Amino acid sequence: MIGICLQARMGSTRFRGKMLAKINGKPLINWVISRASFAKSDVKALLTSNLEEDDILCEIVISLGWQVVRGDSEDVLERYAKAVELFGLSHVVRITGDCPLIDPELINIAINHCLESKADYFSFSGIIDGFEVEVINSDWILKAYKNAVLPSQREHVTPYVSSSKRAKKVSIKLHEEDFSSIHLSVDYPEDIEVIETVLKELNSENFGYFDVVKLIKSKPELFMREEFIPNLGYRRSIEKDREFVKSLKAKSLSFEKTISHFKRAIEIIPTASQTFSKSYLQLSVGASPLFAKEAKGCIIKDADGNELIDYTMGLGACILGYAFEPILEGLKKQLEKGTIYTLSSTLELELAELISKVIPSAQMVRFGKNGSDVTSAAVRLARAITNRDMVACCGYHGWQDWYIASTTRSAGVPKAVKDLTLSFNYNDIDSLKKLFEQHKDKIACVILEPVGIEEPRDNFLKQVIDISHENGALVVFDEVVTGFRFALGGAQELFNVEPDLSCFGKAMANGLPMSAIVGKSEYMKHFDEVFFSFTFGGETLSIVSAIETINYMRENNVINTLWHRGQRLKTAIENLISEKELEDIAFVKGFPVRFVLDFKTQDALKLKTLFQQECAKRGVLFTGSHNISFSHSDEIIEKTIAVYSEVFEILKYANYYGLIEEMLEGEILQPVFRKP
Ligand code: PMP
Repeated sequence: MIGICLQARMGSTRFRGKMLAKINGKPLINWVISRASFAKSDVKALLTSNLEEDDILCEIVISLGWQVVRGDSEDVLERYAKAVELFGLSHVVRITGDCPLIDPELINIAINHCLESKADYFSFSGIIDGFEVEVINSDWILKAYKNAVLPSQREHVTPYVSSSKRAKKVSIKLHEEDFSSIHLSVDYPEDIEVIETVLKELNSENFGYFDVVKLIKSKPELFMREEFIPNLGYRRSIEKDREFVKSLKAKSLSFEKTISHFKRAIEIIPTASQTFSKSYLQLSVGASPLFAKEAKGCIIKDADGNELIDYTMGLGACILGYAFEPILEGLKKQLEKGTIYTLSSTLELELAELISKVIPSAQMVRFGKNGSDVTSAAVRLARAITNRDMVACCGYHGWQDWYIASTTRSAGVPKAVKDLTLSFNYNDIDSLKKLFEQHKDKIACVILEPVGIEEPRDNFLKQVIDISHENGALVVFDEVVTGFRFALGGAQELFNVEPDLSCFGKAMANGLPMSAIVGKSEYMKHFDEVFFSFTFGGETLSIVSAIETINYMRENNVINTLWHRGQRLKTAIENLISEKELEDIAFVKGFPVRFVLDFKTQDALKLKTLFQQECAKRGVLFTGSHNISFSHSDEIIEKTIAVYSEVFEILKYANYYGLIEEMLEGEILQPVFRKP
């Protein structure tokens, strides 16, 4: 069913009552109806408002055999959706009441082209203003009705489909020239005069579009109107759009105490934080919480008392949740028994044995406090064992000289150290082979994050192990992130591969400072000689926390739950990006248990800042990282999806209208590592 839908109303702001304005003695509405009636279609209907002033239009069109659909005076799109449903239309032909000269033959051509080309949206390009015909697949009318938010989309009906990358858009030119600036529609009373002149020149009511084209070519002076601004109505609604987009911002949070703390902190603590990733580089000063007061489960409370859902979770440390009740009791008891001793504690033994049960390659175990402790211990151990100095790395491995030498934050690292650290690319086995060729018998170990946000391809991990061993180097898996998250035993368990040494940290003690280096006994035994020793090694609270965390995770199928809930969130975000056609500016990468939502384009950091700002106002602390914890309940995840949906919408249109920077309320985020 094809329906010609004539959009018309009496209440034009620029020319009130224009539909009854007389052209050669006949009202405008009658001109349009009588000409459009010659077009072939199943249904012909006037779409107008419920307002009383439009009753007269309905009476006229009904008397001329047309149907009527009426609806909200503000929401034009609603009338189209009603027409689609009422008449069961497959396609809508949109014409407007201000076009008295409309050519029925163009309507026929438009319908045929749209059907033949199976277009979702058909239009003529370069056509004279006053002859436009658009044909829209009704599915897109309904989709727009459901999803369109901008005033321009609701008022002008077709911008939603015509700007969608998903829609098949077909447009044809009827002539080489662009006549779109020639104005033969009725927006102002003075337009009537021009139209009457044209009609006089045509000297017949039986004319078509090409007769007008001929006239333009022979007497162009008749059509010269310098004061005319085309598409004024549409331009006005774009202005309304911009105001509307700005109004989508939620009310600002109070950051009074936060800012005052920040001012004090920046004077006494460089970067005002102990960790780059918790500093103003990653959190917008003025638009995001900066200081935590307390946290429980996955809810963090900031210095101003704002409560937000957290997905960064202490940079991935709090796998079960902040202050997680089931393990608190054990910690309290241990506190009363002492935190470090002059002697080693038996708890160390208990944890080492537990770890050797859950991590496949853990024949022996030593503990550290931060991830950097154990990655650096692994490198020193490998250097001692192989009597070689160079290291090949892939991923992030901590703050120590040997690794940070390879980054853009290497100030203070001696050149001699920098020369010893090489880098290769994930899933690019040739880049590792090349290092072994260039530095034959010099590489002590290959250290890599077994999986980050990219899936290993072509047996990459096994290939790394084989090639390294062929070249006499040890393989160290940096499982600081993947351990106790991707699987209890880390990526090595998930992908069934066995490194020589591996490093764990972050999640293993649910937020207490605890890390571990584990591996084959033949290598680990060298710690008898290699110096890896510090005062707080064996500190008991963290060990108890690790034991309790690991046991809780084993007994409660935590890993499975994390994958499951993370998948729901990740898929939902991917769907939002796709539904809202945001692929050019946003992406999700990684695994359900740990993924990032990040932004593209040269404005990526501004986009991220605006996203963080509007998420914070809606109760979600956004840093890009999604480290799913056991405290992220289904309900919390659904709430997050609803928040992201709203904020994506803001981002989409703020980006489209170039309003991002104008809408920011705080400082723009910065990268921790700049591009080299
Ligand atoms: N390795 C990886 C993969 C990491 O992500 C990190 C920390 N982000 C480290 C090592 C260093 O750990 P830490 O910051 O605890 O020293």
